[in-house]
Amino acid sequence: MAKVLCVLYDDPINGYPTSYARDDLPRIDQYPSGQSLPTPHDVDFAPGHLLGSVSGELGLRRFLESQGHTLVVTSDKDGADSEFDRELPDADVVISQPFWPAYLTAERIAKASKLKLAITAGIGSDHVDLDAAIEHNVTVAEVTYCNSISVAEHVVMMILSQVRNYLPSYQTVLDGGWNIADCVSRSYDVEGMHVGTVAAGRIGLAVLRRLKPFDTHLHYTDRHRLPQAVEEELGLTFHPTTADMLPACDVVTINAPLHPETKGMFGDELIGTMKRGAYLINTARAKICDRDAVVRALESGQLAGYAGDVWYPQPAPADHPWRTMPHHGMTPHISGSSLSAQSRYAAGTREILESWLAGAPMRPEYLIVHEGKLAGAGAHSYSTAKDHKNG
Ligand code: NDP
Repeated sequence: MAKVLCVLYDDPINGYPTSYARDDLPRIDQYPSGQSLPTPHDVDFAPGHLLGSVSGELGLRRFLESQGHTLVVTSDKDGADSEFDRELPDADVVISQPFWPAYLTAERIAKASKLKLAITAGIGSDHVDLDAAIEHNVTVAEVTYCNSISVAEHVVMMILSQVRNYLPSYQTVLDGGWNIADCVSRSYDVEGMHVGTVAAGRIGLAVLRRLKPFDTHLHYTDRHRLPQAVEEELGLTFHPTTADMLPACDVVTINAPLHPETKGMFGDELIGTMKRGAYLINTARAKICDRDAVVRALESGQLAGYAGDVWYPQPAPADHPWRTMPHHGMTPHISGSSLSAQSRYAAGTREILESWLAGAPMRPEYLIVHEGKLAGAGAHSYSTAKDHKNG
């Protein structure tokens, strides 16, 4: 029988909800690529309910316990004596969401001698040391596509809110004010701007598609070029590298995974090559940007704004400088955890567990590491420290 250790974010401060703002979720038949939504045999939750916090349990308890498995759910994941650390040594499976990541470091993986499977209930498995997972033959899987469109919507919202100076204008209303000049002296139209994405995978491409109707000029860079038909349909300009693309752009959105190739990419030097007054939107991973270089660029005016929802570490400490830097539009890490997304990644997590417990193969698109190497989606989009050294 398996022990499943699930790390989830805390319940709402006022308790687990007893009612919701809406009664149902819209029906989505497939993802834009044609990939099907998760197909577990069954689910034990109501779509649209809060599943990602401790009491929501990703809807897994009845399913696991009815088969004799053990489910431990906690939000206590950091510090030397966390419940996560105490429960880890005999866990077979660890589940966590990138919003509240259980950092599976090499040290923790070494201590978790029974660990066979790490599931990311979401997308982005950089909180797992993939080299250590490879070394210890731990399978790493994520629910590919479950929240890509959720994030793309958040990116578009953040681009508009930054360029149009929405948040300070909203604050004016909250403060009882009406100084129009204060609100508009940093407000522009997105129309006509050059917008570029670093990576045009599921999220990056969805952002480009959503920005097309705003009559923007669209740019991208990626390790693999998009089909010519897509470039033509969206009028895309391809740049072989991020460095080539940045000087052309008024707005840059980062949609690449965090791995050795992208870690620390946006430092003083690269940001210095952007147009003065460009906007940088990062909903990918915080460590793709140098924390203090972002602050310096906002203070000097090199960047007109920075927005995103990814931080390091998570949760971000109260004194994290991104909370107080000028002209930012940060949220906690929420873009991929809408109630809509939660129902998809809870179902996907169940699908992964059903396959694994039955000894059946998982969908390749869910695999990041398997049988001691990058596999499936991981082999396409990630690199290891070893690749980086050799590359
Ligand atoms: P995809 O795998 O579909 O896309 C990632 C893209 O990044 C791929 O096209 C890949 O290239 C490209 N890429 C990888 N390395 C580089 C590089 N060095 N330079 C340029 N492009 C690169 O993933 P998604 O679009 O679904 O998600 C992207 C990331 O967004 C996730 O890894 C995660 O970190 C983050 N995310 C954030 C969420 C949030 O809540 N804020 C939720 C979901 C995801 P190729 O495959 O062509 O080699």
